[in-house]
Amino acid sequence: MPADTKTLRGLLYADSMIPKSFVQELLNRVDIVDVIEGYVSLKRAGSNLVACCPFHSEKSPSFTVSQTKQFYHCFGCGAHGSSIGFLMEHSGMTFVEAVKDLAARAGMQVPESAPDPRGSKSARAAAADGTANEAMDERAGCLSL
Ligand SMILES: [Zn+2]
Repeated sequence: MPADTKTLRGLLYADSMIPKSFVQELLNRVDIVDVIEGYVSLKRAGSNLVACCPFHSEKSPSFTVSQTKQFYHCFGCGAHGSSIGFLMEHSGMTFVEAVKDLAARAGMQVPESAPDPRGSKSARAAAADGTANEAMDERAGCLSL
C-alpha cells in the first residue's frame, strides 16, 4: 500500500504543469509544522515534533515531524514526505490541490499551466525542425494516395 501511494505521488508530480521552482519556493515559505498541526496534535520532543501516526493505528507516537528538514516520517509504517505529501496522503488531495492549498496559506499565486501546449510556440518549434516537416509531408503523401 505505501509503495502504491509513493508511485502515485511521483506520477502526479511528473504530470503537473506547476514549475518545480515554484514548489520549492512554496515549501520554503510554508512551515510543515503549521500544516500538520492543523490535522494532528504534535508534541515537541527535542528538535522534532512527535504524534501518534495519522496513517496507521498506534498507541505510542512514532510519527515525527522535523521542522529543520521540513518533512515528516513515521517509524511505524514508513509514511514520509513534505507538506505537500502530507496533504495528499492525509486529505486525499491531488498534487495540484495540495500545492494550491499551501499557496493560499503562504499568500502565493500558483502559476497556471501554459495556455495551450499545442499552440503557436510548439508549432513554430516544429516548423524550425526540418526532419519533423519531412516526416509530416511523407504522411500527408500517404494519405492522399
Ligand atoms: Zn505510521
